[in-house]
Amino acid sequence: MSIEKVETLVVGGGQAGIAMSEHLGNNGVSHLVLERSRIAERWRSERWDSLVANGPAWHDRFPGMEFADTDPDAFPGKETVADYFVAYAQMIDAPIRCGVEVIEVRRNVGRPGFHVETSDGVIEAGSVVAATGPFQKPVIPPVVPEEAAVLQMHSTGYRNPEQLPEGAVLVVGAGSSGGQIAEELLSAGRQVYLSVGPHDRPPRSYRGRDFVWWLGVLGKWDAAAPGPGTEHVTISVSGANGGHTVDFRRLAARGMTLVGLTQSCADGVLTFAPDLAANIAGGDENYLSLLDEADAYIARNGLDLPEEPEARVIDPDPECISNPLLELNLEHAGVSTIIWATGFALDYSWLKVDAFDESGKPDHQRGVSSEPGVYFLGLPWQSRRGSSFIWGVWHDAKFIADHIVTQLKYQSYRGPGHPLRDSA
Ligand SMILES: Cc1cc2nc3c(=O)[nH]c(=O)nc-3n(C[C@H](O)[C@H](O)[C@H](O)COP(=O)(O)OP(=O)(O)OC[C@H]3O[C@@H](n4cnc5c(N)ncnc54)[C@H](O)[C@@H]3O)c2cc1C
Repeated sequence: MSIEKVETLVVGGGQAGIAMSEHLGNNGVSHLVLERSRIAERWRSERWDSLVANGPAWHDRFPGMEFADTDPDAFPGKETVADYFVAYAQMIDAPIRCGVEVIEVRRNVGRPGFHVETSDGVIEAGSVVAATGPFQKPVIPPVVPEEAAVLQMHSTGYRNPEQLPEGAVLVVGAGSSGGQIAEELLSAGRQVYLSVGPHDRPPRSYRGRDFVWWLGVLGKWDAAAPGPGTEHVTISVSGANGGHTVDFRRLAARGMTLVGLTQSCADGVLTFAPDLAANIAGGDENYLSLLDEADAYIARNGLDLPEEPEARVIDPDPECISNPLLELNLEHAGVSTIIWATGFALDYSWLKVDAFDESGKPDHQRGVSSEPGVYFLGLPWQSRRGSSFIWGVWHDAKFIADHIVTQLKYQSYRGPGHPLRDSA
């Protein structure tokens, strides 16, 4: 039986896989994208019903196409985002095969290329791009025993308030997911506890410009690595209900109980770190520093943008910040559900090649791995802060496509006296 051969195999048909296909196609590199489910599946089935993009439509998109029927300054819903990628894949005629899972990739022995086992047979690939996402495996820290009398779920399992049993909800993690889910539950009349760790909380907009614009002109999307000590600092923004700045004090004023980092659980009693005030202060510092940088940018460039002094008004600390809860008896507090918005881990168990460091993390430079012919795409901070976001992955894909083309040129060189075949 003949084995299917492709020059480059792209694993994953999310935004990263589609961006990769566009750049490979533009360079004439024959390729195939395998997606185990549907295009942009995670936007469809691994996110809550009311989720909208965190950035406005003019920003959170690929350069080659705008969102149809969407105000450029609006925040498209998750289905609209998924539909956008389906339309984009059609527009570029991306060779995507859906419903095919890559089960294992191994380097060929004694010859170039890779042996790829899929749920639909074997493929031989010259190179492999792992585009399986920055957020692959939900992580729930082992704090509350599974047998505890409370429903526990990861934020990927949350859909809407009606899905949850009656009772109070503890949301652990106050990044964009945790903050938005907690606010939705509060608005639905639930009693909500929100466990807040270190975070950045940029203003949704300032002086007439959305924060995505400010991060762009201030060069922050292009930062190559998180600042020292901020590796675990999450960013809390929301495009919900037209978009607004995440302000934990205002959530507390509406009845939400803020607590510090969730630490441990014994006999149904949770303990929280005494770090809430410090975490809130860190978020304020980040917020105010962005206003300062924006003001300086406006002054330096003589821009005519409206003053917004009220943006600097920080409400007084509510009781739950000045006198924080350090323990919570789940039963006494009527907590029926814990939602862990605690992030994700990578899972490349299918990729059996030498492209990982001692700790199992991808060993790469801008996505070019230590195993020649293997590439990663869409990793958080792959080349810059924007790497795991819609617009950022497009630029990283371009870089990887260029690298693949260069390698193909080297491989096609046959020595002095032979004409150089332009392989790409
Ligand atoms: C809640 C949430 C909201 C976000 N909102 C925004 C936003 O507003 N703006 C923004 O720019 N970014 C946002 N992001 C970040 C980022 O854009 C998304 O995480 C996006 O889904 C990443 O796209 P991706 O293609 O890199 O990975 P994914 O979307 O994870 O796609 C990877 C694909 O690979 C497939 N796959 C995995 N393993 C295999 C295998 N072995 N074989 C075949 N296929 C496989 C999966 O089915 C999946 O479809 C958000 C992230 C989250 C979690």
